[in-house]
Amino acid sequence: MSVALAPAAPPSQEALLGLFPPGTALTPTGELLIGGCRVTDLAERFGTPALIVDEAALRHRARRYADGLAARWEKSRVAFASKAFPCTAVYRLLAEEGLSIDVAGGGELALALAGGVDPASLVVHGNAKTEAELRMAMEAGAGLIVIDNLDDIDRLERIVTTEQPVLVRVTPGIRPDTHAAVSTGQDGSKFGLPLPQAREAIARLRASDRLRLDGVHVHIGSQILDTDPFARAVEAVAGLGTFAVYDLGGGLGARYTYGDHPPTIEEYLDTLVGTARKVLPSDAEIIIEPGRSMVAEAGVTLYRVVTVKYGEPVFAAVDGGMADNLEVALHGQRFEATVATRVGGGAPHHLVGRHCESGDTLSADVLLRDPRPGDLIAVPATGAYCFSLSNNYNGALRPPVVFCQNGQARAVVRRETYGDLTRRDLP
Ligand SMILES: *Cc1c(COP(=O)(O)O)cnc(C)c1O
Repeated sequence: MSVALAPAAPPSQEALLGLFPPGTALTPTGELLIGGCRVTDLAERFGTPALIVDEAALRHRARRYADGLAARWEKSRVAFASKAFPCTAVYRLLAEEGLSIDVAGGGELALALAGGVDPASLVVHGNAKTEAELRMAMEAGAGLIVIDNLDDIDRLERIVTTEQPVLVRVTPGIRPDTHAAVSTGQDGSKFGLPLPQAREAIARLRASDRLRLDGVHVHIGSQILDTDPFARAVEAVAGLGTFAVYDLGGGLGARYTYGDHPPTIEEYLDTLVGTARKVLPSDAEIIIEPGRSMVAEAGVTLYRVVTVKYGEPVFAAVDGGMADNLEVALHGQRFEATVATRVGGGAPHHLVGRHCESGDTLSADVLLRDPRPGDLIAVPATGAYCFSLSNNYNGALRPPVVFCQNGQARAVVRRETYGDLTRRDLP
């Protein structure tokens, strides 16, 4: 994926607000209001950088997914792919909305249980699940464990005491148009089983008296911006036979920039279910696993400008960067940004972080209106994978997560302290 340049004409305030959570507004003085909360108040109360989440936007998104799928295919459920935003408050909120939860590995399983998720609603993934993790999932009563390799079958056969429902993850040989790092369904992927091996696993599981094969799973990648690859993935799993469950994974793209026009949730569901009506048994259950597209647009990162360096280009450096947003460095993902108290317009700047790498650029050539030290910068669409990939590079303290709704704000994750940085060190 190439790093897109800023558009020639300055985007309107309206276009810029369109990248923020729905309902984001401006005060009469031109300051951002997220979930009814003034960004200057949020920054004063919680410090910067901070990951602000519009709670209503998140719930609304969850409902669009759940209601949209149920309206199109009655026997269905939505499992949030929790690696996109694994904090207990998000698990709790999405479980409250009736979603199932997809976890990869023991850590996310522990977080989901801590967030009050019903174990029966868990779908447990991982291309290298250890025996300890499988045991943990089984003992927790995980609803579905997804077989990713033949060793998963051997391990589960050894440890399962009562009947355990499983799915087989299939690699359908589909390469969607997305960054190689987040493409997973192509031939040669480390995830899942190619069709011939999947057939072998299916035959073994059908003969098993402890593992109950409920169905098949496919997930072809992330940040996919057209619907066609999803249709082809459904067709590919349909060819494997008749099952009670078809888990069609996640991967719908989120809108990060002015130029992104991902399919809407409804267009995506129309494609999936439209294809399913043609090729899947009508009494089967359909599961989908949206991650990025569920949470990205509900999140906004607030930073403070530390310094502006005038030259060619002009750099605006903020108090965060690749420790709280690795999406740029990992995938070349483009983000937009604005001075949070003077929204829209301005001149091109390189918005950079505080970390010791030149790759620590949050947004190249982004239009900012006269940023000065102390100004707040807002970067929209940071709800997905920024929290999960945050790190302590340069001793950075991982930011708090703040939920906003109806003008009320509450921290659901506190900022790390210097004490946290040494907490695991032994004398
Ligand atoms: C990551 C992942 C998802 C979610 O992908 P998004 O692009 O975030 O929607 C769903 N299913 C599985 C198995 C995954 O690994």
